[in-house]
Amino acid sequence: MKFRNFKMVGYVVYGRGSFNQLDEIIAPYRQKDKPMIFLIDHFFLGGPLIDRLPIRGKDKIIFADVTYEPKTIYVDFLSQQLKEDFGSVSGIIGIGGGSAMDLAKAVSLMMNNPGSSADYQGWDLVKIPGVYKVGIPTLSGTGAEVSRTTVLTGPTKKLGINSDFTPFDQIILDPELTADAPALQRFYTGMDCYIHCIESLEGTYLNEFSKSYGEKALQLCRDVFVKKENWGADSDDKLMMASYAGGMSIAYSQVGVAHAVSYGLGYLLGTKHGIGNCIVMNHLEEYYPLAVKEFKYMVEKNNIPIPAGITKGLSNAQFDTMINVAIGMRPLWENALGKDWEKIMTREKLKALYERL
Ligand code: NAD
Ligand code: ZN
Repeated sequence: MKFRNFKMVGYVVYGRGSFNQLDEIIAPYRQKDKPMIFLIDHFFLGGPLIDRLPIRGKDKIIFADVTYEPKTIYVDFLSQQLKEDFGSVSGIIGIGGGSAMDLAKAVSLMMNNPGSSADYQGWDLVKIPGVYKVGIPTLSGTGAEVSRTTVLTGPTKKLGINSDFTPFDQIILDPELTADAPALQRFYTGMDCYIHCIESLEGTYLNEFSKSYGEKALQLCRDVFVKKENWGADSDDKLMMASYAGGMSIAYSQVGVAHAVSYGLGYLLGTKHGIGNCIVMNHLEEYYPLAVKEFKYMVEKNNIPIPAGITKGLSNAQFDTMINVAIGMRPLWENALGKDWEKIMTREKLKALYERL
């Protein structure tokens, strides 16, 4: 048995208002004549957060278009543009949800690695460290702030750049930044965390490391979505830590059925990660019976619409595409269903599941 020796985030600061320390934190990493690049979710365009960015000298703000989840062509475009404009940069500061943070990680890597980001989709293909990178979540749930991957849709696959060079050098966890997130988005992204916990805790890869983080993250999700009557500042605090701990849990285990199936939806239909996971989780009684019951309770209590019928009218070829993407996520199935997963999750069974979504 070979144990995973995983690379973690370099520095972590947590607390309400900790965003104000950004200037001081990045100061030692500023190199002469090389700007810091603030890659910030386009939601913040024209908002007060922009005035709080510690802009100096040639620093540049780029508004990340997160209408679609990150694509390799967009990463290549951004890194190419920065190379043309500046040669090299001191660092990339990614501010936003999972999409903006993943973009920041990928652009950081592509500032120093040749070719296209699509060349690095996979495991441990990156050989050269990226530039200094900072992650600042404004939505809680994906765990992208702690993970060693950046999920990208490329010309042939939707797959992360998983490497020891992918994690952020620094993260700033300031729950105040999530205060204005719309309730629906907060739920969908929050459920990503809930589902990370369930898939980790109910998977065959589970160990005490993952369990410790997963149980805590699950409790925080329940505090927020099951027990709490009204959203408050403490909910933002809790969900931000749930996201972090949920990410730590899957770092040493794996996700499962909801993620594998949701990846197929994302690849074919562009369904976003959080909502896609919810659409799938709604139909997974067979695999996670208690959690699905609790999930449905949270959906009802928080008055959240979960789309249905999204695969209606798709062709057999389209179902095949989704099935291929999902089945390709072998470690996820092995974690969820054990070594003999291929006997349990046949293509026919998976098709029947997709047809119900
Ligand atoms: P997101 O980043 O795609 O953002 C969703 C929407 O919320 C966008 O419209 C965005 O503009 C808006 N938004 C962000 N912050 C806001 C705020 N404070 N107030 C109001 N609106 C705000 O959503 P997400 O669920 O955080 O991230 C999903 C992405 O994360 C996917 O691309 C997925 O592949 C990726 N992901 C990555 C990992 C990883 O480990 N790297 C893990 C899970 C998911
Ligand atoms: Zn996820």
